[in-house]
Amino acid sequence: RSIQAGEIDLAYQPIVRLSDKRIAGFEALARWDHPRFGRLNPQEFIEIAEENGLIVEIGLLALDKATRQLAIWQKTVGADRELFTSVNISSRQLLRHDLVNDVKSVLTRNGLEGRALKLELTESIVMENPEHAAKILEKVRETGASLALDDFGTGYSSLSYLQRFPFDTVKIDKSFVHNNGSGNKPVILRSIIGLAHDLGMDVVAEGAESDRDAAELAKLGCEFAQGYYFGRPMSADEAHRLLAYNANTRH
Ligand code: C2E
Ligand code: MG
Ligand code: MG
Repeated sequence: RSIQAGEIDLAYQPIVRLSDKRIAGFEALARWDHPRFGRLNPQEFIEIAEENGLIVEIGLLALDKATRQLAIWQKTVGADRELFTSVNISSRQLLRHDLVNDVKSVLTRNGLEGRALKLELTESIVMENPEHAAKILEKVRETGASLALDDFGTGYSSLSYLQRFPFDTVKIDKSFVHNNGSGNKPVILRSIIGLAHDLGMDVVAEGAESDRDAAELAKLGCEFAQGYYFGRPMSADEAHRLLAYNANTRH
């Protein structure tokens, strides 16, 4: 009922290119504006939606809204054509639904090139059924869309699996990124970035919360960062204003 009533919306968080601090894309994050409980975060409903199967509908809604919004931004804010939108994909969408056709249809409907869309999947999702996942992901790549391995470093999968799936981007989990000046975090961070680069992948660091985090990531050769320092998840209108500002500023 909430889906029909339009209570599920998307928040957009900027993903910034560290070399010039400009917006490279946005990650679309689901929000549920519940009439009684207010705004709910995905932790509060995605898992339940996974269990009851509604995630397929929510996932499709997210794919559709995010690409429709991106097409608007590409036309109106003069945002550069490389601007992408990143959408989270659940295990049911990958394994039990026709993800490839969903991707094709949202791209065609909104007149977008494949590379405008990035799908984010966690290790645990692809590890549920590695053979099947690999096949589907190959087909997704044929549409031109790109694939990011989300929350990297938190799963249990073997590093060798990195080569078996056609990911082009690694998203380092925020637990390795925010620098509180202690422990082995910088060492792990450097190793993950090096590993990803050696495998020919780009790196997005999640959870950059300070200028210190951003500077450290840039120093380590990380291409992109996402985190409160560059912007919290925001409404489409706010993201639009940020893009317009970005387009008119030279850094
Ligand atoms: P995720 O894909 O890893 O998304 C990043 C999460 O980190 C977001 O939480 C974001 O708000 C948060 N974050 C961003 N920057 C910072 C920072 O600097 N510090 C800290 N502490 N946190 C930061 P959010 O929006 O609550 O989403 C949580 C998770 O829910 C997402 O993790 C994703 O796995 C899932 N999710 C969100 N939208 C969807 C969706 O449409 N479909 C599916 N299947 N899952 C979704
Ligand atoms: Mg994500
Ligand atoms: Mg993540």
